[in-house]
Amino acid sequence: MSLVPGDGAQINPFETARKQVDIVADLIGLDDGMRAMLKSPKRELSVNFPVRMDDGSYRVFNGYRVQYNMARGPSKGGIRYHPQVSLDEVRALAAWMTWKCAVVDLPYGGAKGGVICDPKKMSKGELERLTRRFASEILPIIGPEMDIPAPDVYTDSQTMAWIMDTYSMQKGYSVPGVVTGKPISLGGSQGRGEATGRGCAYVIREAAPHAGVKVKGASLAVQGFGNAGSIAARILQDEQGAKLVAASDSKGGVYKADGINVGALEAHKAKTGSVTGFAGAKSISNAELLETKVDVLIPAALENQITSKNADKIQAKIVAEAANGPTVPEADTILFQKRITVLPDILANAGGVTVSYFEWAQDIQGYFWPLSEVTNRLEGVMVRSYNDVHKVAEEKRVHNRTAAYVLAIQRVADAIRMRGIYP
Ligand code: NAD
Repeated sequence: MSLVPGDGAQINPFETARKQVDIVADLIGLDDGMRAMLKSPKRELSVNFPVRMDDGSYRVFNGYRVQYNMARGPSKGGIRYHPQVSLDEVRALAAWMTWKCAVVDLPYGGAKGGVICDPKKMSKGELERLTRRFASEILPIIGPEMDIPAPDVYTDSQTMAWIMDTYSMQKGYSVPGVVTGKPISLGGSQGRGEATGRGCAYVIREAAPHAGVKVKGASLAVQGFGNAGSIAARILQDEQGAKLVAASDSKGGVYKADGINVGALEAHKAKTGSVTGFAGAKSISNAELLETKVDVLIPAALENQITSKNADKIQAKIVAEAANGPTVPEADTILFQKRITVLPDILANAGGVTVSYFEWAQDIQGYFWPLSEVTNRLEGVMVRSYNDVHKVAEEKRVHNRTAAYVLAIQRVADAIRMRGIYP
């Protein structure tokens, strides 16, 4: 059974997303009408808009906002700036946001946006004008009660600040709840920066006893020692007593059997720009890192890292997907047969969207929580969600990824059914 894109690179992601719905619909017996609703984005807006460039010329950019499903609440999802953005990619990402929000039971649907552009070749002023004009174009369909964007690839808290300001200028008053991932000074939440890694660490802790792993003293390998990966490692080390033995980034990896102090590695990376060259550690390649004998492997870099070519060589007992889509379906089946516990991306990295939800809740209340409250509530959501997924996996005798999709799609289908079809 295939629930993520395959080894082949040329797969249309929206076709994959639609197939995933079919697979789950077969498993839980959804009728054709419900299937069709779950396979169709509710609303899509395509916009072409001009931006004045620094040299005085004008360029027309193409952007999208897709609201995939709103049965459970306002839609939620990031905005991506990338030359390869396409409508089908945005549709697929919007579908996956719908399932991610549902698996952790947030009162949200799913959405995604994108603008076809190359932000690396644009000045800050050009990016600000592009962002403000794109925000104006999609303004009729976004808002705190309707659709709440967030950062994604090549957008950040500054981008969100510009969108919040543009929206607020049109309304005539400040509306912080229109986007999440904002700077703290504009209504961002404490704890948002570490939420994905922290959530991932909680899910690993919960899964460990079922996978025969004792987190205290467990060995860890992290592919992609960036935001999500380094923070997951730090929390597993500092709060749960695990030991990082291997870590990598785009420049290569390091290995040390008796443990690498996460704080020291973070400091080394901050100083040199990479984990490579860390004193006392042996150099390893990214491929070797994935195949290292450890208790817990955290892919936290890119998609399609665990494939049919290397899945058989994975020696970890738990694979916790901090990254989106690191495992291809052929590999998924191999890992399942090897009895490796896979914690799927829509669960393992959902801490980020969960704290985005907290940010929105704080913004609309106008009442901000201390970090301890954010952390406690995040822990509650991640523990409950892991247990929900585990229960479905046991009941249906499926692996965790299928269980997570079953749980999410069932929740959305139930909401659609309870609301009934208008008119
Ligand atoms: P990041 O840029 O902070 O870190 C990514 C790390 O991966 C960097 O250290 C980079 O050097 C490394 N990397 C890049 N290419 C690599 C390669 N070929 N081999 C090994 N390492 C490589 O990004 P992030 O925010 O930590 O995101 C990482 C993954 O987590 C992405 O898949 C992202 O979609 C997913 N994710 C992140 C969040 C979040 O809130 N940050 C939320 C959900 C999912």
